[in-house]
Amino acid sequence: MWNVDQAYIDGAFAQVHGTERVPVINPASEQIIGHVTLANRADATRAIEAAMRAQGTLASFSKAQRIEMLNALQQAVLSNSDQIRDSAIEEYGGVFARTQWVSQYAAQCFENSARLLERYEFVKKIGDASVIMEPIGVAALIAPWNSVAGTVCSKLASAIAAGCTSVIKPSELSPLQTQVLANALHQAGLPSGVYNILLGRGHEVGDELTRHPGISKISFTGSTSTGKNIARASVDTMKRVSLALSGKSAMVLLADADLATAIPLALNAAFMNNGQACVAGSRLLVPRARLDEVVRCVQACVKTMRVGDPRNPATVIGPAVSLVHYERVQGFIRRGLEQGATLVAGGEGRPEGLKRGYFVRPTVFANVSEDMDIAREEIFGPVLCIMAYDSLDQAIAMANRSDYGLQAYVFSNDLDMVQQVASRLEVGTVLVNRCTTELLAPFGGRKQSGVGREFGLSGMESFLEPKTVLAS
Ligand code: NAD
Repeated sequence: MWNVDQAYIDGAFAQVHGTERVPVINPASEQIIGHVTLANRADATRAIEAAMRAQGTLASFSKAQRIEMLNALQQAVLSNSDQIRDSAIEEYGGVFARTQWVSQYAAQCFENSARLLERYEFVKKIGDASVIMEPIGVAALIAPWNSVAGTVCSKLASAIAAGCTSVIKPSELSPLQTQVLANALHQAGLPSGVYNILLGRGHEVGDELTRHPGISKISFTGSTSTGKNIARASVDTMKRVSLALSGKSAMVLLADADLATAIPLALNAAFMNNGQACVAGSRLLVPRARLDEVVRCVQACVKTMRVGDPRNPATVIGPAVSLVHYERVQGFIRRGLEQGATLVAGGEGRPEGLKRGYFVRPTVFANVSEDMDIAREEIFGPVLCIMAYDSLDQAIAMANRSDYGLQAYVFSNDLDMVQQVASRLEVGTVLVNRCTTELLAPFGGRKQSGVGREFGLSGMESFLEPKTVLAS
């Protein structure tokens, strides 16, 4: 049994002052596997004060010192990557291959920032001016449950490279992943207060972070509705805010696409992380003339996808994170049927043979129209909508007719056409015939998918403030 009741503040683990104790349930077995005691507002204040005390020291560190810290963090995460992977499998049912990749990528973030820092000039000459890129100040790094190590390490690497201390608040739904990650980061032996980690409710710990005048920057990843609350609450102290939010990504299959390669990629994009990915490709737009062929191919592929125990490396889709979320996804499937979409795979209830666990059947709807809930809202589960288009213009208009604009996918071998389509999609990232992103390139969303960019240079500069100095 796990018992998580400590926060990491000022370089040490300490019992939280909060008293709310919550069970942790393994979503694959529905068993209680531990308890977490959540931090409260007073704990958040202590963490902020520790980060404020360390800010001057970190800002004064040389590039070489920060690079050394990043290298130590990389090593610490790398040497704990199996435990990081296993905690994600146990806690939210992330499947083996995905959680393995995230645990590696978490370490890679520190290396990427170290290499970037080696080349980065903090003083730039622009006209007569010297422009000095200075750390913004203490940052709050707020993360969701669906990719704890990846999100936290990416943000922390950028913050440290820029010289900003931080208070990290992962989701209250991810205590095991947080505990394992905090233990790993502690092994890097960084100076006290450079980063602090605590778990707590959004309306309490999160709210304190967004309002406290000691916090200068918020780097948030989570839902659009929470992002809006954070933006509103942080305006009084005019914090700098980066928001990485929800998505409803379109996948545009062009007329020439080879279905044998495109459909497995599309299903991988749709069902990655059990469908619980901000970048999940949840709308597949196909030329009407190829609709029947696409549906047959999708049905055949879905049949081969193993749903079940996330510890088994052969499993492709694990459970939904919680019972509440399972029921929310079931509600979408029900509404898809009620609103007239055609079910071509999956449906309501658990997959055959699985009597326990919050497993959702990988579900595909065809004949989905743009006004249906399943076509408009982020479901965050393994549910794919297939929508037919009659012209490329219509496909692009459909892809763009969304409140969201995080990522899009294009499947085609016609590279000229791909370029044209990519240039017209209103999203932060376009992936062509692939499902993985580039960790050095800017990542973020347009429209209600976010504000600002993370990763690489953009990520680091989001923690810097330019100061212009002119002398006569
Ligand atoms: P969420 O918005 O419910 O919670 C995210 C974090 O915000 C948690 O740590 C939560 O405690 C905190 N929070 C909640 N209310 C707060 C408040 N008022 N002030 C400060 N913090 C508060 O999201 P979730 O359910 O944990 O994650 C799923 C969502 O995250 C999905 O919508 C998904 O698309 C999105 N997401 C986006 C990206 C991206 O890079 N764009 C990546 C992963 C997940």
